[in-house]
Amino acid sequence: KFITFEGIDGAGKSTHIAFVADLLRSRGLTVVTTREPGGTELGESLRAMVLHQKMHLETEALLMFAGRREHLAQVIEPALARGDWVISDRFTDATFAYQGGGRHLSLDKLNALEQWVHPHLQPDLTLLFDVPLEVARARLDAERTLDKFEQEKADFFAATRAEYLRRAAQFPQRFRVIDSTRAIADIQQEIAQLLDAV
Ligand code: C5P
Repeated sequence: KFITFEGIDGAGKSTHIAFVADLLRSRGLTVVTTREPGGTELGESLRAMVLHQKMHLETEALLMFAGRREHLAQVIEPALARGDWVISDRFTDATFAYQGGGRHLSLDKLNALEQWVHPHLQPDLTLLFDVPLEVARARLDAERTLDKFEQEKADFFAATRAEYLRRAAQFPQRFRVIDSTRAIADIQQEIAQLLDAV
């Protein structure tokens, strides 16, 4: 099974990845945890470029999908073929949300790239950690990474969040929107129930 974690910066998804991996392992399952951008040596190089160099928006989107192609070939597809569970910290929905929603790249172009890179594969479950912008902002502030927020501006994150929520409504079979303003223990209880249904 393939599970993806999504949400804007500060939504709290990272907190729950280790929890899910441990929970699945405690049930005797073999779990591969990975991330995007990244997940392979090439992907991590691309991540550093995409996050730290200025480039054309379409270059950025193409590099995201190039890294994803490699990630699928080297990590995700072999693991799924072995019957392992794969947990990825972000996947294609993030490209739609950030490059499409946040930066206004044409969704048609992103759909075309998705059709090229993984026409048949979709996550079995996508957990979307959702919080209002003020909550995300306060969390990043507490982690002293607020400069991320100030660079990108609140309207960017508002548009990113809106695209995530739009996709969740478009693909209700695989998306579960998690109200990530709640206590960690409550969220973990909800996630454990969702996993039982996968
Ligand atoms: O998930 P993580 O916090 O590691 O993502 C690192 C950064 O990459 C985030 O600040 C996010 O804003 C950015 N990102 C992006 N476009 C994507 C995925 C992530 O700009 N498609």
